[in-house]
Amino acid sequence: MSGKILVIGASGQIGAELTMKLRSIHGSENVIAADIREGSEELTKSGPFEILDATDREKVGEVCRTRDIQDVYLMAAMLSATGERFPDKAWKLNMDSLFIVLDLAKEKVIQRIFWPSSIAVFGPTTPKINTPQHTIMEPTTVYGISKQTGERWCEYYHKKYGVDVRSIRYPGLISWKTLPGGGTTDYAVDIFHKAIEHKSYTCFLSAGTALPMMYMHDAIRATVDLMDAPASQIKERSSYNLSGMSFTPQDIADAIIQHIPEFTINYEPDSRQQIADSWPSSIDDTPALEDWNWKAAYDLEATVSEMLEHLS
Ligand code: NAD
Repeated sequence: MSGKILVIGASGQIGAELTMKLRSIHGSENVIAADIREGSEELTKSGPFEILDATDREKVGEVCRTRDIQDVYLMAAMLSATGERFPDKAWKLNMDSLFIVLDLAKEKVIQRIFWPSSIAVFGPTTPKINTPQHTIMEPTTVYGISKQTGERWCEYYHKKYGVDVRSIRYPGLISWKTLPGGGTTDYAVDIFHKAIEHKSYTCFLSAGTALPMMYMHDAIRATVDLMDAPASQIKERSSYNLSGMSFTPQDIADAIIQHIPEFTINYEPDSRQQIADSWPSSIDDTPALEDWNWKAAYDLEATVSEMLEHLS
């Protein structure tokens, strides 16, 4: 690789682990972490770190030019649940930051972009089971609308200006290193912390709400694999469906009980239930398998074992 990597939103749930993975592959000095807030000590001490506002066009351009950035991973965004509380801020952050990096690639300041989309691009009219890559997409959240719009613009910049932008529709991500940042699937991380601390959990989704989920290890591997694939193999320039596992709050509670027999769960669905109800329950990721050989490694049992082992 000739230039360096910039991860914007590096202090977040995905950004923190992605940055450390990229540093282990490309060398710490070659991966610049940036966020609007300080990151963990591991992140800020292991390599370069910048305080950077992803919506500041001038500053993002300046960092890319002075740091000789080749690839930008744009992880800064406002997520689904928080986005419903601050719709205008969510729209502004999610769209402005994307246009800034797309334009930098169009102007050839940077060469490649990774930008994550989400299962939130789907809506209540989308087929819920094994949702295909190409299907009805009528999202009902500000977050989902911003991701769907972002996908359209990524494909447009690729077709029109030859921008090498790559994307994954992440499902809900489960990780132990960094807490999630205001999404509808956050319960699947929260539940482990509460199971260990209090042996009980009150879930904000109902018992039978099945959603597509993935262990962070798989999500990072998918991201690295997608960026490693030759450009000619990347057929989807909107965003790839990606499947890990699919489970309900009751399924994950049952899996935790196998390790912590006294664990109990009760259900008090809140406004996030409506968001979850509008999303698919499982995802068909055949194009990701065909184009760049994607296959998830972690199922629910393996995820629960690792989460409890690391958090205990
Ligand atoms: P997060 O909320 O944990 O992290 C986002 C980071 O962006 C935070 O550290 C935040 O400080 C930073 N940020 C916010 N505003 C900023 C700004 N103006 N400038 C610079 N940084 C700013 O989110 P995450 O879960 O790590 O998600 C990363 C990306 O992946 C997002 O685009 C999100 O939509 C997408 N995604 C996440 C999930 C998931 O389950 N975590 C699922 C689907 C898609």
